[in-house]
Amino acid sequence: MKERPSFPARVQGLGAQPKARPAPPPIETPQGIGLDSGAVRQRMVDKLATLGVRDAAVLQAMAFVERHRFVDSALANQAYEDTSLPIGLGQTISKPSVVARMAELLRNGGSAKLGRVLEIGTGCGYQAAVLSQLASEVYSIERLRGLHDKARANLRALFLPNVHLLFGDGMLGFPQGAPYAGIIAAAGGEAIPPAWLEQLAPGGRLVAPVAGNAAGEQVLMVVDKTPQGLRQTVLEAVHFVPLKSGSA
Ligand code: SAH
Repeated sequence: MKERPSFPARVQGLGAQPKARPAPPPIETPQGIGLDSGAVRQRMVDKLATLGVRDAAVLQAMAFVERHRFVDSALANQAYEDTSLPIGLGQTISKPSVVARMAELLRNGGSAKLGRVLEIGTGCGYQAAVLSQLASEVYSIERLRGLHDKARANLRALFLPNVHLLFGDGMLGFPQGAPYAGIIAAAGGEAIPPAWLEQLAPGGRLVAPVAGNAAGEQVLMVVDKTPQGLRQTVLEAVHFVPLKSGSA
């Protein structure tokens, strides 16, 4: 809360005893109904909680980042619905429940902030902003120059010094930032690229969509680097844009 400016105490009549003043009424914060209002995001967060997101740090990060600033103004009114939205160049921003789910998996119930995290597929930069609240450093790589530039523009106003945007082929990871406590992919390939597993720190966790069953459905995969080796867990079916090699 802001401190009020102090004014010279009013002179009370000679000999008057200073009276205990009643506490001032709380200052009302105007409750905007526009997209800038925290109330709009809080409603989204309440919905995420009903969908099963339990991690308070994740819910807090989702409440912090203004998703409407990452989508086209024509779509801004849908920004707090649980839906994926186009971000240009044939790509999409994942729906909030998927971003929250993956962040929760990445944190794995830990109480401390994650260390360095690598995100493959910056897109518009939304998930990178969410991750910036949950990790000490976020390295986010995008293969499409147009989206890399868009994310840079979107994130500029947020002043998130721990987010590092990189342009290039994320299938190679980013060895300069390795090892990572967490790796998260927003695009799904046939298999997990070996570079990601190499760049994962011991005790680290990777969360990524990957081609799964015979029906051709993608599934969410979690890989833990344990002292006994890599442990894979296959979770629910998901729909992510394809992971492609090279940059453009
Ligand atoms: N996290 C993003 C989601 C973007 S969609 C957001 O919050 O907006 C996934 C992105 O992955 C797309 O922008 C796509 O271009 C990118 N992508 C696909 N293959 C890639 C690769 N090999 N390296 C880096 N980015 C890749």
